[in-house]
Amino acid sequence: MTESAVRYSRAEDGIVTITFDDPDSAVNTMNDAYKQGLHEAVNRLEAELDSVTGVILASAKKSFFAGGDLNRLRAADPEHVTEQTQYVNEVKQDFRRLETLGRPVVAALNGTALGGGYEVALSAHHRIAADVRGSQIGLPEVSLGLLPGGGGITRTVRMLGLQKALTEVILPATRFSPSQALELGLVDEIVDDVEALEPAARAWISAHPDAAQPWDLKGFKIPGGAPTSPALASALPAFSSTLRKQLKGAPLPAPRAALAAAVEGAYVDIDTALLVETRYLVSLTIDQVAKNMIKALFFDLQHINSGGSRPQGFPKHTVQKLGVLGAGMMGAAIAYVSAKAGIEVVLKDVSLEAAEKGKGYAQALEEKALAGGKTTAEKSAALLARITPAAEASAFAGVDFVIEAVFESVPVKQGVFQEIQDVVQPDAVLGSNTSTLPISTLAEGVKRQSDFIGIHFFSPVDKMPLVEIVRGEKTSDEVLAKVFDYVLQIRKTPIVVNDSRGFFTSRVIGKFIAEAVAAVGEGVEPASIEQAALQAGYPAGALQLLDELTLSLTQKIRVETRQAEEAEGKSWVEHPSEAVIDWMVDDAGRIGRREGKGFYDYDENGRRTALWPGLRDKYGSGKRELPLKDLQERMLFAEALDAIDCLDNGVLTSVQDANIGSIYGIGFPVWTGGVLQYVNQYQGGLTGFVDRARELAVSYGERFEPPASLVARAQSGEIYE
Ligand code: NAD
Repeated sequence: MTESAVRYSRAEDGIVTITFDDPDSAVNTMNDAYKQGLHEAVNRLEAELDSVTGVILASAKKSFFAGGDLNRLRAADPEHVTEQTQYVNEVKQDFRRLETLGRPVVAALNGTALGGGYEVALSAHHRIAADVRGSQIGLPEVSLGLLPGGGGITRTVRMLGLQKALTEVILPATRFSPSQALELGLVDEIVDDVEALEPAARAWISAHPDAAQPWDLKGFKIPGGAPTSPALASALPAFSSTLRKQLKGAPLPAPRAALAAAVEGAYVDIDTALLVETRYLVSLTIDQVAKNMIKALFFDLQHINSGGSRPQGFPKHTVQKLGVLGAGMMGAAIAYVSAKAGIEVVLKDVSLEAAEKGKGYAQALEEKALAGGKTTAEKSAALLARITPAAEASAFAGVDFVIEAVFESVPVKQGVFQEIQDVVQPDAVLGSNTSTLPISTLAEGVKRQSDFIGIHFFSPVDKMPLVEIVRGEKTSDEVLAKVFDYVLQIRKTPIVVNDSRGFFTSRVIGKFIAEAVAAVGEGVEPASIEQAALQAGYPAGALQLLDELTLSLTQKIRVETRQAEEAEGKSWVEHPSEAVIDWMVDDAGRIGRREGKGFYDYDENGRRTALWPGLRDKYGSGKRELPLKDLQERMLFAEALDAIDCLDNGVLTSVQDANIGSIYGIGFPVWTGGVLQYVNQYQGGLTGFVDRARELAVSYGERFEPPASLVARAQSGEIYE
């Protein structure tokens, strides 16, 4: 007989401890074993009620409870809606029985309690969290395309009020530290360590023998009012219009469903509200979008973060002293995120003044964090003390990890490595943050080519979660492993790719932009092109993005790439976007936002004012109308086909890296589950995708012709997994 996932033990004082301890997993999730275990525990509590004085919900794992069973949610299908609805409602009925037992119930959160895990705790009358570093509390379901349907919406709305629950907890899907959770009201008490939990729970139980949920007391009112109250009734329409603005037309059903469940549920009693919430949850689980998002943002991410692309057999490396070369926009920010993770940093530029200016970036961000109460004066001072500005190479003595972020030029980059390569530790990692130069070419300038590697950050570094690690021809496995560990050390997500022009991310995003630019050249209305991208779920329009990246820079990279490829004997296939960009840069002088003019016009503060009317004169914008679906799929397919090419040519070595890299690094629409999952989930699967690619090839050019590898996969039924 397998051990139960839920243990029941009653002490002499009558307090029953219900301990979650899934025997088959390192974490507790809402699987069948849990469901049955809790059901039996609640039955027993009711049967033995006379001898029960209170209940403590506890966990025997390192975390309290990880959440819903995502494998189960992911497998939900439209044919089993009734069973699924019943399953969710049964889980919730036991919560309801627990909170209306007539005995005080305390949740003792010894670690992370997320999603379904936090919803378990919501059935308690009092939540105590141990202030354990790294513990996360919250309802992140919306970020996985789901909603908190285990009572999370219904109870947080009743605890915090509709507005606060929605805008601070449910919709942003934030994971909070115990102290943030306390401040918000998601937990009621914090203790210093795990050992202090039980005494605190017992003390609360004995002081509150008659505990009940506020919503079960007579005369209960939702804080801030029900939707029918005059104040809220007038504010409600703004909720959905704000959400609509935030989503910019992206096809993300979860936020809308969460809003609807919260508002509808607030009109009715708690038991009805719980049923309403289930209905919305089930409707999301049978939708493809949630499956895509769970696949990428949970399973693919877990694969990556647990070292899926890290060479095995090397001990975990912790960077002691980081040397950053170049204190410009990127170098300064790399120094900041590293110091924030506790690493000593030397930040070098051509002069001490320039290096100090780079440190100023960290100072400014810390001042802001301090003013917003996000850090303390001590922590902030310690962080800043870890960054040492320098101008001399000698400051790199003792450095075990170098990241170079000087100007984008082979001789300049090779020069700065030569200055420091004999000063740093003899086995120091030599990393470059280049965004376009081949790693193997840069490596030729250093003595230890096997220690040379690309560490490609994204701007703004402190916000962007991805780092693309680029392996050069001679990079060793050990160095790759060290860099992988460093990226996790600074709490970012690493993907690993092989050296190639534009690596993976810059190359693929270039296809999105090129497709939009080509459509401008065909006479499609530029505003429609931008709108199509937003409605497909891209965070920004492609023309806007290109203005930010600067048209002349893109042009320069293309010219250089073409020269390099032709020198290698490869033939260059011109893309229709090239002529548009050449005309914009060479004839119209429209370089991009930096110069105040690109596809858009800008005011003196650099704010976009309108699309440039000159496009209409040149290309007769609006003369050609394309179906919205075509416009969107040209962009999505162009990127997906290029990602397949990256996989076929070994630039990418895993599907997970492709999916996560595309969502976290280059804004591929999150609802798709990433650039290769987009292919899997296309209507009709891979065969449907192949057929559609052929249609696009007929209408818009051979570049959409599906490659043989894809056709073969479609025939064999193998997906990108
Ligand atoms: P930047 O012009 O802001 O900074 C470059 C810095 O390097 C300047 O402070 C300059 O004084 C310094 N520098 C130049 N020569 C030096 C030398 N010999 N020794 C020490 N310092 C020297 O440039 P940036 O935007 O920070 O880009 C830096 C690198 O990062 C480039 O390779 C770029 O391609 C890459 N990158 C940029 C982005 C981005 O979004 N800007 C994104 C990813 C990668």
